Amino acid sequence: MPTEEKSAADQLRESLSRRQKHACEVLGEDEIARADAFCEGYKGFLNACKTERECTDWFLVRARERGFAPYEEGKIYAPGSKIYLDNRGKSAIFAVLGKQSLEKGLRIAAAHVDSPRLDLKPNPLYEDKNLALAKTHYYGGIKKYQWAAIPLTLHGVVCKKDGSTVRVSIGEAPGEPKFCVTDLLPHLGKEQADRKLSEGVKGEELNIVVGSRPLMLDGKAEGFKLHILRILNDTYGIVEEDLVSAELEAVPAFEACDIGLDRGLIGAYGHDDRVCAYPCMEALFSCESPEFTSVVVLADKEEIGSTGNTGLDTNFLYDFVTGLALAQGVNPRRALRSTKCLSADVNAGMDPTWAGVLDPNNAGYMGQGVVLTKYTGSRGKSGSSDASAEYLAWLRRVLDGADVLWQAGELGKVDEGGGGTVALYLAKLNLDVADLGVPILSMHAPFELAAKTDIAMMEQACKAFFGAE
Ligand code: MN
Ligand code: MN
Repeated sequence: MPTEEKSAADQLRESLSRRQKHACEVLGEDEIARADAFCEGYKGFLNACKTERECTDWFLVRARERGFAPYEEGKIYAPGSKIYLDNRGKSAIFAVLGKQSLEKGLRIAAAHVDSPRLDLKPNPLYEDKNLALAKTHYYGGIKKYQWAAIPLTLHGVVCKKDGSTVRVSIGEAPGEPKFCVTDLLPHLGKEQADRKLSEGVKGEELNIVVGSRPLMLDGKAEGFKLHILRILNDTYGIVEEDLVSAELEAVPAFEACDIGLDRGLIGAYGHDDRVCAYPCMEALFSCESPEFTSVVVLADKEEIGSTGNTGLDTNFLYDFVTGLALAQGVNPRRALRSTKCLSADVNAGMDPTWAGVLDPNNAGYMGQGVVLTKYTGSRGKSGSSDASAEYLAWLRRVLDGADVLWQAGELGKVDEGGGGTVALYLAKLNLDVADLGVPILSMHAPFELAAKTDIAMMEQACKAFFGAE
């Protein structure tokens, strides 16, 4: 007999139904403090890394500091060996070798480190009506109007014909100039206000102001664009044609900061998907001698469909696993077939202001932990890899076994829209994969929100996943 009298209905409710709890209900004060401290490190990472190249570099540097060595094909690695494979400086694989043979499969968590942004066109520079400007082509799914009238910084590389590469980062250090796409004043915005929201600012209107003073030579104004070209040449030794072989990305200048009086949220550019990449890597860094070979893949190009040789729809992960397996004398196909994978990516958080597009019973709520997503896609699950019930049951066991707060959701109401992750490209390798990640508000906006306890839960989830039988 229970010591307190509970009604039969309450007893049934307790044993039969799932009540989703908020992190603050289940975590002690010290655990919340630990989550907050973890997020201070994450904020530092966000402020230092705003592009796929910068994120890749950041983790390569830290991996080397922790004893990770470049992967050598054909080498037989002992359990506990730490290795990495840098894929063109834009994506990378990090692995800690397990005690078990690869025949038993791997544990792979994949997160992407590219985020929506404005890329400079191959011939970006022009001048018009006393301004120097740069043409852009947006990258990923953005609401274009959100990118006007906010401060931007410029990151990337310019590769010269002589084979040398100039790294560019302008606007992040204190006192450095920034950039901006202009918007129309409301006083004269009558025609613009009548446009559809998707065309409020059009793609060809995403022009970045890069200068406003002409080059003065012998008391004569010689051009606004020429002035910018001369500054670029003085600073980086580049000429206009070098911009053809460049990847220059304009990103929001905002620093990551706490949001709300209780400081429960972090506002930042690029949570999607660094909010999963960072916890995955921190979890791997704490992995000393895992049972199964544990791997984190940092992918590029997810925001444009995982295409290209740095996206996950290429062979670099397959080649890596194949190489490791063959070195152990294991059939790579067998290694992959037994592999368990997390597609670590964000999901839409429940937003009271925009609640109408989400199914309240099947959405991720802020502060309720990581979101387990069986399928993404659109319409009738089109384009989804749709994880198996068996695999989700295994994941539930792993997460509950490590006291990870998790919730199950999907991306919006049926037929409301949709989206995808890297899951289907992983599934292609004939392994088990499901989506797990942090719920986000204002996803793909220049400034996104995530809850600190969810971010810390993501690390806990990855740790549990890497160690799991
Ligand atoms: Mn994502
Ligand atoms: Mn995204």
